[in-house]
Amino acid sequence: MKKVLVTGGAGFLGSHLCEKLLDAGNEVLCVDNFFTGAKRNIAHLLPNPYFELIRHDVTFPLYVEVDEIYNLACPASPIHYQHDPVQTLKTSVHGAINMLGLAKRVNAKIFQASTSEVYGDPEVHPQPESYWGKVNPVGIRSCYDEGKRCAETLFFDYHRQHGLLIKVARIFNTYGPRMHPNDGRVVSNFIVQALKGEDITIYGEGQQTRSFCYVDDLVEGFVQLMSTDDNVTGPLNLGNPNEFTIRQLAERVLELTGSSSNLIFKPLPQDDPQQRQPDISKAHALLDWQPRIMLDSGLQKTIAYFDKILSEESLPVV
Ligand code: NAD
Ligand code: UDP
Ligand code: UDP
Repeated sequence: MKKVLVTGGAGFLGSHLCEKLLDAGNEVLCVDNFFTGAKRNIAHLLPNPYFELIRHDVTFPLYVEVDEIYNLACPASPIHYQHDPVQTLKTSVHGAINMLGLAKRVNAKIFQASTSEVYGDPEVHPQPESYWGKVNPVGIRSCYDEGKRCAETLFFDYHRQHGLLIKVARIFNTYGPRMHPNDGRVVSNFIVQALKGEDITIYGEGQQTRSFCYVDDLVEGFVQLMSTDDNVTGPLNLGNPNEFTIRQLAERVLELTGSSSNLIFKPLPQDDPQQRQPDISKAHALLDWQPRIMLDSGLQKTIAYFDKILSEESLPVV
């Protein structure tokens, strides 16, 4: 039985990963400071004797004994990572240093949840791993983008300098149950707005594109990447290459919820990428991995989740 540390384990992706690792017979240590995570996401895991929860901020050192580390701790939605940009940078940079230092001391393999945001507002489409990106270093998204870029650099320097076994995944927009209803991301916003009969807020003209991956497909990719040969480091794109405009997404959500909400248009936030689509040929060749869940069926599962939690409590929409 392996002992696996998941930082950010009480978040959206982290909670699904903890569940998957437990199902596979591992012991899981979940570390989270609950900045954007929720106890609700992991409440069902607490009775499991192989699951342990530690409230801890990864910007501070952590001394535990583990075999593998998945480093997911970091606010991921623009409104959350821009809420305290300095803390976001510290989480990516100091958090990476601490988790790499831990991995080095205990000789653990370490996975980094990097992001398609390292490509910024891309001039190459779709984005292969070889593309270096177009990132504004001083804009309002930079705390996230540059923090994640620096974390990648740290991972590769610890690998070259100290021989650490690293696995770096570049995650593209992912959605599913346990997204935070107030985190302002497009899928959660649109579904919550549609279910509440409120206006659907399209930023800009809605012609910008994203490619949405369902959470189960993504975490399957995490685990497969972690189990690759030692010489495989990534970075590896993980995401669903099916690309949609934001307006198309709004229309799918309206149809699937049967909502009569109106579409309204709001200003496009600064530095908002115009298009994004992963080139996943590397992941396909290396892991034989590709997403299986189509947008409509993933949206249906996500709508069912939000329908349930909205009926359980009254949550304000962003
Ligand atoms: P999330 O906000 O639901 O989860 C992040 C978790 O990290 C939360 O539980 C939060 O409380 C915790 N956290 C934040 N700062 C921390 C700190 N200093 N110490 C300890 N815990 C801390 O977001 P998510 O969507 O689950 O994202 C998980 C990871 O995947 C993040 O690193 C994110 O950058 C990356 N990612 C996600 C997506 C996506 O579409 N969901 C895309 C690209 C990358
Ligand atoms: N660290 C940690 N847990 C450990 C080992 C190290 O949190 O089990 C942190 C420690 O705070 C250190 C950082 O990881 O500052 C980087 O460790 P490394 O050994 O690379 O550097 P150094 O200790 O020389 O600064
Ligand atoms: N967006 C939108 N309405 C919303 C929230 C987001 O039109 O209520 C847009 C946003 O401007 C961006 C896209 O949807 O172009 C994806 O936004 P999200 O915050 O989910 O992810 P990211 O921009 O980080 O890819």
